[in-house]
Amino acid sequence: MKQFELDTMNSNETDQFAAMLAGFLKPGDVIALEGDLGAGKTTFTKGLARGLEIKKTVNSPTFTIIKEYNGRLPLYHMDVYRVADSYEDLGFDEYFEGDGVTVVEWAHLIEEQLPSEHLAIFLYHEDEEKRKIVLMPKGKRYEQICKEIFS
Ligand code: ADP
Ligand code: MG
Repeated sequence: MKQFELDTMNSNETDQFAAMLAGFLKPGDVIALEGDLGAGKTTFTKGLARGLEIKKTVNSPTFTIIKEYNGRLPLYHMDVYRVADSYEDLGFDEYFEGDGVTVVEWAHLIEEQLPSEHLAIFLYHEDEEKRKIVLMPKGKRYEQICKEIFS
């Protein structure tokens, strides 16, 4: 399986990378974020939101599960950490198939409900401020995006 990696040395670099990635996204795109608490999933999402020209402050939706923001494209930000049952249907499909970009923190917890084509991104806490970011595109479209970014 193809995978693409980079290291970021501080939260600003993670933000920058995510903002750049946002430039490649279109309605219906889904990004599955994985990584331990504090790895940088929300930091990454904030950068993506900046890249989508969202003006509102993006905060972790841990207690609401889904938050919606308007920008150049809508952003649907999910944190499914507290979804009790992986099959619990909270209407995720409407977001995945909607007019915006969906970002899911802890995406594996609702793996059964994720669209088969998505961009999986893993964040690894290497050091106080160093993170390894691994992109694993699922599907041709996301592979193409990764190839362009890393070419
Ligand atoms: P998560 O959503 O995965 O729990 P957060 O994004 O909320 O993680 O928190 C990550 C924390 O780590 C933030 O306080 C952020 O400033 C800090 N941090 C330090 N270095 C980095 C980096 N390279 N990338 C992302 N976050 C970083
Ligand atoms: Mg978070």
